Amino acid sequence: MPDGRHSDGPTEKCGVVGVSLDGRDAARPLYYALYALQHRGQESAGIVTHDGFQQHSHVEMGLVGDAFSADDLDGLKGPTGVGHVRYPTAGSVTSSCAQPFSVSFKSGSLGLSHNGNLVNADELREELAADGHAFTSDGDTEVIAHDLARNLLEADLIRAVKRTMNRIHGSYSLTITHDDTVLGVRDPLGNRPLCIGKLDDGYILASESAAIDVLNGELVRDVRPGELIVLEDEGAGFDSYQLVEHENSAHCFFEHVYFARPDSRIDEQLVYDVRRELGRKLWSESGVESDVVLPVPDSGRAFASGYVEAAQADGAEVAFAEGLMKNRYVGRTFIMPTQDARERAVRLKLNPIKDVIEGKTVTVIDDSIVRGTTSTQLIDLLREVGAKSVHMRIGSPAIIAPCYMGIDMASRKELIAAGRDTDEICEAIGADSLAYLSIDAVAEALKSSQSDLCLGCVTGKYPYDIEGESTDRDVISPEITEGANDPEIADSDD
Ligand code: SF4
Repeated sequence: MPDGRHSDGPTEKCGVVGVSLDGRDAARPLYYALYALQHRGQESAGIVTHDGFQQHSHVEMGLVGDAFSADDLDGLKGPTGVGHVRYPTAGSVTSSCAQPFSVSFKSGSLGLSHNGNLVNADELREELAADGHAFTSDGDTEVIAHDLARNLLEADLIRAVKRTMNRIHGSYSLTITHDDTVLGVRDPLGNRPLCIGKLDDGYILASESAAIDVLNGELVRDVRPGELIVLEDEGAGFDSYQLVEHENSAHCFFEHVYFARPDSRIDEQLVYDVRRELGRKLWSESGVESDVVLPVPDSGRAFASGYVEAAQADGAEVAFAEGLMKNRYVGRTFIMPTQDARERAVRLKLNPIKDVIEGKTVTVIDDSIVRGTTSTQLIDLLREVGAKSVHMRIGSPAIIAPCYMGIDMASRKELIAAGRDTDEICEAIGADSLAYLSIDAVAEALKSSQSDLCLGCVTGKYPYDIEGESTDRDVISPEITEGANDPEIADSDD
């Protein structure tokens, strides 16, 4: 994969961005911001802008650098716009599902970028189709666009968004253009990240703060769960509307463990710091003395440095070593459909350095195990080059259940930890020992209570109402009633 993650890990979802600027076109800042979010989606990239009179759109399959020419960017006029990088989580892998989704309704033009997954999209689609809405894709973003467009016929922008939020159920961080107004919305449980940044000449909304950094901007804060942010014209500021409030959040802990860039700040925490802390906790829970500690590049690196730091502080004789080299030019492996293709891809991607490993006891640190393909292959490779023993330490709890919130975790039957205990998994991957991090340790490292986290993939209990699955809370059901519950909306300007 372009960001160098290994083959059978969970797959990122999407990245969203939106800007309102004073007097210059939004296209190039959006383009650079999308570059910074490339790790969140490599299937397609797109930008929608508005010049005050009309909407402009350019959406292509492929990476950001391939999707736009200089002419394409020159044609995207206007100081406001939204952008998107996509890995398909709902809808098929075709250009009709690429985003931002742009469309003109009687209520004006809309451009929508969505990160997340609605769990009631089919129900809403049927209802909207019965009401005469014609769909051009099978993605859930179009469902949100049609619902919002319908609400905009009867209500002002803020109330229309509120009505749509009351009807859609699932995870979503959205950046939206409504004509030349840019909005950002985070779902009521804050499952997916979204933050606000200040630029020299405007404001930006982005999935991760790394997209603000690349524009030399400053992170202002995270968008709160259930909050709508409206960027003011000419990048003058932003207005905040707390449209839905829940007692607890359900932040995806895997953003910190795996998806987000280590240099991003999410929900007030630097991802790199969290990963190092997870590594320290991994040592304190299940540290094992060995000659060398190897991170699985690149995602295991911060965990391994925290692990070794804590081990050395305890007086253990362990050394950090880069014993696994990654071939950065191997293509994405998650699109390889068969287990055999994935296995070969692991061997192409990771090469052990014999001199570092031969005759040594080795601890390998990785962020997670999904199917177990990478771990099994890796342990084989390490033994082939002479490792005396191989101990696996994993910086997250065992993944026992799929994700319905927009992450490709594989199906339950593909998950190596579904229905197996740790000893059985250890045997299956061929390690001398295996240990996962506890859920308590994850919550502590995130400085969060467990009730404010989504832990669905490691507990099998989800924060949303999902058919056939159990939930870990009193789920507030969406209101599939047109025009329901128009709010008294307080504008709390920041
Ligand atoms: S189920 Fe797992 S990957 Fe999916 S949102 Fe929850 S914590 Fe994140």
